[in-house]
Amino acid sequence: MPDRKTLPVKPLDQRLPYRLRENFLSTPELALFRTLQGMVRQHYVVCPKVALNDIFYIVRPNENVHYFNKIFRKHVDFLLCDPDTFKPAIGVELVKPVAKNETRETDQFMEDLFLSAGLPLVHVPSSERYSENDLVELFQLAIMKVKETESLRATEKSDSVPMCPVCGKMMVLRIHRNGPNLGKKYYGCMDSPRCSGVVEIG
Ligand SMILES: [Zn+2]
Repeated sequence: MPDRKTLPVKPLDQRLPYRLRENFLSTPELALFRTLQGMVRQHYVVCPKVALNDIFYIVRPNENVHYFNKIFRKHVDFLLCDPDTFKPAIGVELVKPVAKNETRETDQFMEDLFLSAGLPLVHVPSSERYSENDLVELFQLAIMKVKETESLRATEKSDSVPMCPVCGKMMVLRIHRNGPNLGKKYYGCMDSPRCSGVVEIG
């Protein structure tokens, strides 16, 4: 047992200017968290308030500083992750109710952002209470939207060349000159050998 008397106590004037916020989650956030947990228990881990910067990276970051600034210091309200790998599966964002057929600019940006990365985003109108049935419907809609976008993208040839998964630069078609994949084609980073990014084909 450590001796209590030896624990240093900082004088009050040396205390740093940080204090604990009264609530970590707002009332609508807490209510949604509980409903989500009941719904996805065992299938997903529900992470509250995840920084967008921790979920997404920016391709060609030097050209796209503007897009970095757009997600910097922003978060998604909930991120549902695979319980084993913590691979993100679905984002859930509370939105202020708006008139029908109207979308706030920030909500639209979030939607475009998630769609671009192929991650479903569910917009849930903020409330004190949520019905599981309504949420399931919103989830299905969001997942369908991503699938439609992905299949559209797959038919566009320009998108068939991947971007480097390491640095985000363009990739070029190369052929393995040695090793077990000799003669097989693959995509290598245009910045090779400085960057080791590789995407195998097939
Ligand atoms: Zn690279």
